[in-house]
Amino acid sequence: MDILTENDLRIGYFVRGEQTFVIDPDTVITEESRIFAEHHGIRIERRKAGCVRRTPETARPGGKKPEHMTNLNAAELVPKNDLRITFRGRLDTFQAQLLQVIAKCRKYNSPQLAAYLGEAVDLLRRVMAADVKNEPLAPWTFLGLTPDELREHSHHPEKYYNRKHQAPEADLSYAALELNLLRAQSRELEMAFSQAFIEGNTVRRNDIATLLNRLSSGLYILFCRAAGGEFDCLQTGQSGREGCSSQAAASGGGSAPGKALPIPLEVSAHHVHLTRADVETLFGKGHSLTPKRDLSQPGQFLSEERVTLRGPKGEIRNVAVLGPERPATQTELSISDACALGINPPIRLSGDLAGAADVTIISPTGSLEAKGSAIIARSHIHLTEEDAAEMGLSNNQLVSVEVDGDRPVTFRDVVVRVSRKSRKFMHIDFDEANAAHIGKGASGLILP
Ligand SMILES: [Zn+2]
Repeated sequence: MDILTENDLRIGYFVRGEQTFVIDPDTVITEESRIFAEHHGIRIERRKAGCVRRTPETARPGGKKPEHMTNLNAAELVPKNDLRITFRGRLDTFQAQLLQVIAKCRKYNSPQLAAYLGEAVDLLRRVMAADVKNEPLAPWTFLGLTPDELREHSHHPEKYYNRKHQAPEADLSYAALELNLLRAQSRELEMAFSQAFIEGNTVRRNDIATLLNRLSSGLYILFCRAAGGEFDCLQTGQSGREGCSSQAAASGGGSAPGKALPIPLEVSAHHVHLTRADVETLFGKGHSLTPKRDLSQPGQFLSEERVTLRGPKGEIRNVAVLGPERPATQTELSISDACALGINPPIRLSGDLAGAADVTIISPTGSLEAKGSAIIARSHIHLTEEDAAEMGLSNNQLVSVEVDGDRPVTFRDVVVRVSRKSRKFMHIDFDEANAAHIGKGASGLILP
């Protein structure tokens, strides 16, 4: 049994200029459509029971589809200027635009961004199927986030990605500019949807409306992340050099080992990791660290808690405590920090405390002699297993990373660390960053 809605009449009357509507014997006419029909002098006729349902196709001699008509679904023909057909055209165009950017990401070694945009393509295909079959959308996620989380994250990029809200500017990275264009195009798709599916205050497909809105939020999140330096293999670089993208292209673009590979840089300030017991010693029994914001590495966070470090020669105040708690307390310093404190820590990878120096950790309510806890963090690269496979690198491999700019530097013996819970970043400390005059959003090139 069908329902003849006011919207059906509006589209037929205003878009197709129809004055007479023929409906099946059991079709329900809503009160609103009855009023609309009366008001506009529209005739509604019921077919006699047993009559074959007549579509414009079967009404034509020979049953040939007229050139100006197209199928809305298996049973229904509509003129090509039907608003739902226009919407589907926009879906198709937007998918084509996404595929072009995905191809670029693959060419210039950004498999993660390619994967994210692949999810967007998949969502568009689901929207198309849901509209054509007139079926509800199954639950979905984008970027690993639910619709509610996408909205929350896009409203607070600072909280979740340590990235400010970003206005589009021509000097952003290529990845950010591509994502900004995709975000704008997703808005146009939403407008095409609104014209076809929103009547006054009534949305006919709330599920599709939500998906398109959150897809746009997700693209904005990716844009903010790209503007902050992620996915920057499509980037020109901060100092105007033609950077990673052209070099990757010049070396063939692919992801096989032996090619120069772009890597985003993050600078780590001095910080402390604490054991459960040491958190209680410093902040009181039963206290747990209060997360302030997430760090780039999944699961790691900056806490609200701050401590002072004291050595024989001096103090460093307001030092960040990172969570979660660890099996061993560890203080990560730059060589300048160690000089200020008057201690001599070894250069070690995080987690390796062999020969680590002693330091006193002081909180507002307690203090702790952290014996054998202080190290100078060795520069390293975080990769997931997928990243590593894609880049032809392996765990514990040593690589050289060149950072171009007004003070070009090549870091040697940088350790590759592969783990499932990581995000592709190279970590250096402030001494190293200053040596190379590296600011936010910079990237390096892993040399072949
Ligand atoms: Zn790290």
